[in-house]
Amino acid sequence: MVRESKYYDILGVSPDASESELKKAYRKLALKYHPDKNPEAGDKFKEISHAYEILSDAEKRQMYDQFGEEGLNGQGGMGGMDAEDLFSQLFGGGLFGGGGGGRSRPSGPRRGKDMMHHLKVSLEDLYAGKTSKLALQKSVVCSRCEGRGGKEGAMQTCRSCNGNGIRIIMRQMGPMVQQIQQPCTDCRGEGEVISDKDRCKHCMGKKIVSERKILEVFIDKGMRDGQRITFSGEGDQAPGIIPGDIIIAIDEKPHPRFQRKGDDLVYEAKIDLLTALAGGQFAIPHLDERVLLVSVLPGEAIKPDCIKVIPNEGMPTYRHHNHGHMFVKFTVEFPDPNWADAETIAKLDGILPPRPQLPSFGEKQVDEVVMADADGYQTQRATSNSAYDEDEEDDGRGGPGVQCAQQ
Ligand SMILES: [Zn+2]
Ligand SMILES: [Zn+2]
Repeated sequence: MVRESKYYDILGVSPDASESELKKAYRKLALKYHPDKNPEAGDKFKEISHAYEILSDAEKRQMYDQFGEEGLNGQGGMGGMDAEDLFSQLFGGGLFGGGGGGRSRPSGPRRGKDMMHHLKVSLEDLYAGKTSKLALQKSVVCSRCEGRGGKEGAMQTCRSCNGNGIRIIMRQMGPMVQQIQQPCTDCRGEGEVISDKDRCKHCMGKKIVSERKILEVFIDKGMRDGQRITFSGEGDQAPGIIPGDIIIAIDEKPHPRFQRKGDDLVYEAKIDLLTALAGGQFAIPHLDERVLLVSVLPGEAIKPDCIKVIPNEGMPTYRHHNHGHMFVKFTVEFPDPNWADAETIAKLDGILPPRPQLPSFGEKQVDEVVMADADGYQTQRATSNSAYDEDEEDDGRGGPGVQCAQQ
């Protein structure tokens, strides 16, 4: 007989519940009332955690059974242990993860890890919007055994490690005794054991199975490189944890024609000298099915590297769906050398704006020179660095140091 049953009632178990029954009851309720999952539950989570904190401690439980709440003598008063700490102690360590962290970890994850995936998206798709299907592999709680790993009640707390998943081994090192933590070999760090005959055949007792999942990712018009789309709670499942999120990060693929600057696009247009001076048209294939036919007005005189803008032909702005602008940066292609005879060129004198006057040089001596193509001269200079090297078979890269060594 126990004096009070309040804590047992809170956990919904009878006063003769076993340790594992207590743990199971707590786990179920704590997950249900955890503030992350159930923010309206108020102090319920704390109450459950407090009850479990007392009852899971053999000494405290005995005191409670014998003398009731009074018997705990203040040591079990509310606020003894932080409810969150207790929760993470139970859920964070070796019990589920098999990582062997166990009680040594101050606060483990209550929530599963978020999983990040990168999705390469073309500029065309970011312009027009698209729904992409993304296939990925994720862990889900085994449906055959409902995440128990086997028949109901067949999973037992591992006796070798008391369910912690780790064992502490003492080792004598000279005068010192060293404590070493090792994953428990009996339960392979899982804190629980199950006999082979009761083990779930579907998940092999692992409680989770890997599943292929197709996510439909809605790429909205105007989304940007690095922007994230969150699928809440779609992360890996495991019994006793709140699954994390799947996060899709957009990787914008480089585009052969356009460079994106925020909501604006930059296009490099190559036009010929005649179009630049006398006007004409050139085409820009846009990111949708359209082609922009751009007119250069006669006499507009497009200079090399000058930048013009086609308003509102940039990217759609995210959510608002206005448009940025398209900036056009010009390269003017000049005719090749000797493109016309002397007579034609002479005509230019009468057509183009006159040459500027040369400044006055005062008393300075004036030498008249002509130019050659720079290309030939640059190669000559580069090879002349190895001109010291008289050995023709040398690769030409040997500096003076190498030369000295050879002689
Ligand atoms: Zn299973
Ligand atoms: Zn064990």
